[in-house]
Amino acid sequence: MSSIDTVLMTGKPVATALYERLKPRIEVLGQKGITPGLVALLVGDDPASAIYVGSKTRKFEELGLLAETRTLPGDISRDDLLAVIAELNAADRFHGLLVQLPLPNHLPANDLLESVAPAKDIDGFHPFNLGRLLAGNPTFIPCTPQGILELLSHYGITVAGRHAVIVGRSNIVGKPLAALLSAKQPSGNATVTLCHTGTANLAHHTRQADLLIVASGQAGLVTPDMVTPGVVIVDVGINRTGDDSPKGYHLRGDVDTEKMLGIAQAITPVPGGVGPLTVAMLVSNTVLAAERSAGVVHN
Ligand code: NAD
Repeated sequence: MSSIDTVLMTGKPVATALYERLKPRIEVLGQKGITPGLVALLVGDDPASAIYVGSKTRKFEELGLLAETRTLPGDISRDDLLAVIAELNAADRFHGLLVQLPLPNHLPANDLLESVAPAKDIDGFHPFNLGRLLAGNPTFIPCTPQGILELLSHYGITVAGRHAVIVGRSNIVGKPLAALLSAKQPSGNATVTLCHTGTANLAHHTRQADLLIVASGQAGLVTPDMVTPGVVIVDVGINRTGDDSPKGYHLRGDVDTEKMLGIAQAITPVPGGVGPLTVAMLVSNTVLAAERSAGVVHN
């Protein structure tokens, strides 16, 4: 049997190309005295969340944009956190406001996400923005699904007409991605199957995919026997698995990339696949928010 020369779809060149496209837009804003600004709320001391927020704000700083992190105690009350969000909603220097998830258990994430001003909701998690996405008229598209579309387009993978199987139904990845891939748009027009923990016989569905997107948070969930040769695989998962490396952990995807080489037409590595695109789309959405607040229209 002839082996497929699997393309490794790394995220960095895609993100770099996107930053190049954003630079002139950032310059136009600069000429008007506007620096796109992000404020990130980090509640508690979850080390993974601190790393994610750090990688987001560092990128803003590298691009000469404003980024501030507000670190709040893990035992902050709902009302106190709502007051901080209200203050930041009103602060003109911040065009984007993100609440890093997960929040400590005592805080109702849905309530708090609804308190972010929709015009500053650059993560696209507010029901207003999620609703607009579902209605086919998006304002802010959640960063990871938007990044996945960008990545596929960069590597010349046409989505239209494919059978896309998504594993995971979160509001952050799976559900918005299902809406985007099935939208009547050039970047969509796929037939979508959405799998989750209630799915009977996951492998039966993943084998039907010619585009498989896995966002389950389960390291190594999808194995070679669960796919059809020639499939395009996007591995969204970032899982910390313990080992004896100096860090004490290793990052693994939901798919074992090595084992898919020679089987998949293309696959994203973990780390270095979808992750850089999530950050790039956050920058892109913040630039868009700044443009809207200044009445600047870009084409
Ligand atoms: P989540 O925990 O909110 O959702 C996981 C989903 O997977 C659930 O809908 C669940 O039904 C489904 N699932 C779990 N186990 C399953 C199984 N055995 N069979 C079928 N379905 C199963 O997670 P999330 O926020 O969507 O994130 C998913 C993964 O993607 C995590 O590892 C997360 O760290 C990663 N992530 C990465 C990026 C990135 O930028 N690369 C961004 C967001 C999330």
